[in-house]
Amino acid sequence: MRILVMNAGSSSLKGALWDVEGGPAPPQAPSEPLWTARVDWGRHPGSADVVIRARGAAEDKRAIAIESPRDAFGPVLDALPAGAIDVVGHRIVHGGARFSDSVRIEKEVRNQLAELAEFAPEHNQIEVAVIDAVTQHFGTSLTQIAVFDTSFHATMPEAAYVYPGPRDWLDSGIRRYGFHGISYSYTSRRAAAILKRDLASLKMVACHLGNGCSVCAIDGGRSVDTSMGFTPLEGLMMGTRSGSIDPGICIYLIRHRGYSAGDLDRVLNKESGLKGISGVSADMREIVAAREAGDRWATLAYDIFVHRLSSGVGAMAAILGGMDALVFTAGIGENCAPLRESVCERLAFLGTRLDRPANEGSPVDRDIAVPDSRIRVLVVATDEDWEIARECVRMRG
Ligand code: ADP
Repeated sequence: MRILVMNAGSSSLKGALWDVEGGPAPPQAPSEPLWTARVDWGRHPGSADVVIRARGAAEDKRAIAIESPRDAFGPVLDALPAGAIDVVGHRIVHGGARFSDSVRIEKEVRNQLAELAEFAPEHNQIEVAVIDAVTQHFGTSLTQIAVFDTSFHATMPEAAYVYPGPRDWLDSGIRRYGFHGISYSYTSRRAAAILKRDLASLKMVACHLGNGCSVCAIDGGRSVDTSMGFTPLEGLMMGTRSGSIDPGICIYLIRHRGYSAGDLDRVLNKESGLKGISGVSADMREIVAAREAGDRWATLAYDIFVHRLSSGVGAMAAILGGMDALVFTAGIGENCAPLRESVCERLAFLGTRLDRPANEGSPVDRDIAVPDSRIRVLVVATDEDWEIARECVRMRG
């Protein structure tokens, strides 16, 4: 089965093509993809950078002229290697209350996804544009599957997902959804395999720490709480997002500083977090380097990040009634040893004791706690694209 995965974000599109044997898809990718593509737009106005890698061929790197990101999708599909595609899986950030599982994209589903753009304007519009480009390229008979970042959290109990605002919020879809679910689905299963334990018997707190950051309480493989909510703005401090703040600040800024919705969106999503406090960068590597060089604001940005992450993990552990494993994943989680050490030190009272050489030795898919640590600590390399491919195999039957 040839599976094409399309993973669109607010400023990039990643594509990956696999050729897999029939039968159930393995828990991990059996090989490198046959072909990958990456398009970045927004770096230079009017142009997009395209990088195509086909197995056994030289990398093809070029800039193309575009008026909108949509203009870049056709050239990427044109660059696919010859041969039929059986199914296309799309990453969809927001499934709202309507989609609690992956779904085949028929016309009505496509229109419902477009309506959800109201909830996730930065993501769903682009994702629907990718679906349309695929339909235009291959025709309507090709099976396309939507895989949602929210659906892993459909198992959260009401007490976790209902905001304590007026009750009619819930009727209009204003509730907590949670994100990074595709990653949590992959990493929780992988963590259980690394520990050689049955996922159903494990209480885990997973931390997906990339440009966006969240924590998730996973009980027996099911999400019971997570830090992101109605949008990916709630919860932890992130690269450029504030995470949770007192909503009274927004009321104050509107009343006394003349802020519009657009101003709040920009400030909270783009000018806050690591970047807003450090003034150095949204990139954790640069924060760590500036902190080591004694920079006061980078040090504060790092300290707030650790403070809020530790408190987030503690909250998830309380909801689970204890945890067997703490799992770090995504760019920061997988690569930033000092951050893992800082968090495990803060949570040492719970029983997170790191094996320092293991933590510092670029661990991939391994347990980095000392043997007698009460809580296992794992670094897992997430693979959202493969998780989407697996969903395609499951849905296509
Ligand atoms: P995205 O959410 O866009 O998929 P990633 O999962 O790639 O993002 O994570 C990006 C983040 O990972 C950035 O903040 C980057 O600084 C961080 N990161 C990557 N490598 C390292 C590293 N070696 N040390 C610290 N942070 C790192």
